This record gives sequence, C-alpha cells and structure tokens, in this order.
Amino acid sequence: MDKLQEYKSKRDFSKTGEPKGKTKGSKQGLIYTIQKHNARNLHYDLRLEWDGVLKSWAIPKGPSTDPSQKKLAIPTEDHPLEYADFEGIIPENQYGAGTVIVWDKGTYENAKPDISVPEALEKGKLEIFIKGQKLKGAYVLLRTGSKQDQDARWLFIKMKDQYADARRNPINTEPRSVISGLTIEELEEKTAKPS
Ligand code: MN
Repeated sequence: MDKLQEYKSKRDFSKTGEPKGKTKGSKQGLIYTIQKHNARNLHYDLRLEWDGVLKSWAIPKGPSTDPSQKKLAIPTEDHPLEYADFEGIIPENQYGAGTVIVWDKGTYENAKPDISVPEALEKGKLEIFIKGQKLKGAYVLLRTGSKQDQDARWLFIKMKDQYADARRNPINTEPRSVISGLTIEELEEKTAKPS
C-alpha cells in the first residue's frame, strides 16, 4: 500500500513544485517541522516523521508556548519526508494553493517510548519532546472524543516544563522561515518579481 496515495491523488505534479514523494527514513532523529501556509485560510502545518512519512495536522491558530492554550489540530494526509524542507508557492487551482514557509524545524522524540507513535495516536494521546528552533520541550497531541466520533478533534498543547512560557508568542514575534529567513510576504514578493 502506498502511504502517500492520498497526498499524490490531491496534487498535479506537472503544476505544483511540491515534492512527489518517496518514502525513506531519515538518519538523524525523527523530523519535526511546522510550515506556515498562507492558503485560503492561514494555518500552520505540524508534521512528525513516522515510518517513512510525515504524519500531519493543520493548526488553524498556530502553536503556542503557553500551557494554558489548547490549539485545535486537524489531522491531514501523510506527506513525504522531503516535504519538510518545502517552501514556495503552490499555484492557483492546485490543492492547498498559496504560500508555504518552513516556520520551524528540528527533531522530536516520543516522550513515552513504551507506547509506539501509532499506538499513541490510536489511543488519542501522543506525548512528544520537540527540539526545534522556536518550539522546544514537551508537547501533547490529544484527541477529544472517541476515535469513532466523526467530530473528534485533536488539540496541540504545550506541557509544563522549563520551556513553557506564557509570555512568548512566537507566532507573532518570530514569523520568519528558519530556512530562508523570509516571511510569507517576502517570499511572495520575491517570487512575483522576476530577478
Ligand atoms: Mn496546509
């Protein structure tokens, strides 16, 4: 079974510059990334490497470093590992049309290694330790409601540790890509102007 079947079926690779996708594992820890995606609705895409793909959630309001903030996270289709470095403009009329920057990137660990990542997701509670440039420390992905529930929602929440900080607001104060250093607006401007 091709784990990226849904991903591929949604995209026309003759029109979008997004990666076609292979499934091969990375060697230096599990990939963690958050992409800022200025599509029809601005959102942040959390992606976590597992078993050759990036498990993905769209976070409409973006992540927080404040443990009192519960951020809605909507599961989306698995993405290829190379997507973790994708920045660019997805053309109009293509799935996810809009601009993408890599807002944060690093690695993560399963904080409860006695339960595997798929098992934890099945049970509705995945605790991870993030080593990003902007987000660090313990976070939890929590499903509210049962797995069978059509309206089941996931929440992405900072857990209390030395990296928790209710005053930091990286969504607003650190808007730039950790790869190119550009904001969404700057990337759009740069792409619009022929160089
Ligand atoms: Mn997205």
